[in-house]
This record gives sequence, C-alpha cells and structure tokens, in this order.
Amino acid sequence: MRVLLIEDEKDLARVIKKGLEEEGYSVDVAHDGEEGLYMAENYEADVIILDILLPVMDGLSVLREMRRSGIKTPVLLLTAKGDVSDRIKGLDTGADDYLAKPFDFGELLARIRALLRRARDVKEPIIRIGDLEVDTVSHEVRRGGKEIHLTAREYAILEYLAYNAGRVVSRTELIEHVYDESFDMDSNIIDVYIAYLRRKVDKGFGRPLIHTVRGAGYMLKERREG
Ligand code: CA
Repeated sequence: MRVLLIEDEKDLARVIKKGLEEEGYSVDVAHDGEEGLYMAENYEADVIILDILLPVMDGLSVLREMRRSGIKTPVLLLTAKGDVSDRIKGLDTGADDYLAKPFDFGELLARIRALLRRARDVKEPIIRIGDLEVDTVSHEVRRGGKEIHLTAREYAILEYLAYNAGRVVSRTELIEHVYDESFDMDSNIIDVYIAYLRRKVDKGFGRPLIHTVRGAGYMLKERREG
C-alpha cells in the first residue's frame, strides 16, 4: 500500500516515513501544500496523510482542491491538539479522519488500516480468500491454518491483491501501489514476485488462488468451478 505524506516538519516526516516503511508501506513525501497537491494528482496513493499547517498552500486548501479534481483517496488530517474548529472544517472539506499531534505511532497505523478497509469495503483486519488468511495487522499469512513465511515485498503484493480480491489488478497498478516514486517502472519484477508467491501460497494447496488474467494482470480469488 502506498502512502502520500504531506508534512513540512522534516524530522517528523522522516520518522513517519521510516516507521511506515518498516510496516511495509511505500511512502512518498511532500514538504509543502503545492507539492503535495501535485503528488496527489500524479501518483496513485492508497492513503494521504495531510498536515493542516503547511507552507505555500495550507492543508485545507490542498484537500479542497483534491476533492474538486475528483481524487477520492482517503485523507487522514494531522491537526493541532485541541483545535476542534480545524477538525470540523477538515471533515466537512472531505477528510476521512483526523489525528491530533503529537500522536502515538500505533494509533496512526491503526487509523491508516481502518481507512484502507473502509475504502475497499473490507470489514475485518483479517482478509480471507477461501482458506487463505491475510492478517493486515500482524502481516501473518496462513493457508489451511498453516503459516506461510513471506518477505516484506511478497507480503505487500499479496496484501494489495487481497484488499482487491475478485478484481483484476494490472502489473502497473501493482507497481504503483507497492513501490514509491523512486522506483523505475519495470513490470517484469511483478511477474517474478508472483512466481515466488505462487510457490508459497498455491503450491501444494490444491486449488490455486492466484490467477493470471491474460493481457490484464492478476487476480486473487477462490474459484469454485472445475
Ligand atoms: Ca506543519
């Protein structure tokens, strides 16, 4: 999952980015409102973390412009502690949630996960596809009750497919949501990871769950026919 972080306090931005990357997110950072708006319009983020007080263009204006241009990405606002009017304005401008500074990093993670679930109509933190379980909190993966060990990148790809289970996901979309802007597009890398995932998630488990959709991409789905 890819996060766009719009935060001008560089030390804080660095800490958040590092923490999120340790959790397997790919993170793009913008240090002012204008740059943030540009990135929101040009990169596919799954969640946007948006500070209210920003140079060049303030957070609420960024949010207003984003919503006006049709960007539906969930937005988590970072507000000053105790500033109720900013929270109200933020939610009424199209923010999905807010968190007051200073915040606990665990709470930031939990709110991001909640926004990811809500955006995809996933109700539970453990996503189940057939006998496959993807635990989006602990990052544990099980199939038929048996634990499967994945690398961080393998997990990130499987998690994205799991959040979008039943829908075809193209290689480009996978790259856009699993890597950040510093990655130069070579969609062959996705095929390599899918091969690893098949070896771990499908091989020896009977019915495969990872499907190739010719000319379109990949889909995680339990197929009942056959
Ligand atoms: Ca700020």
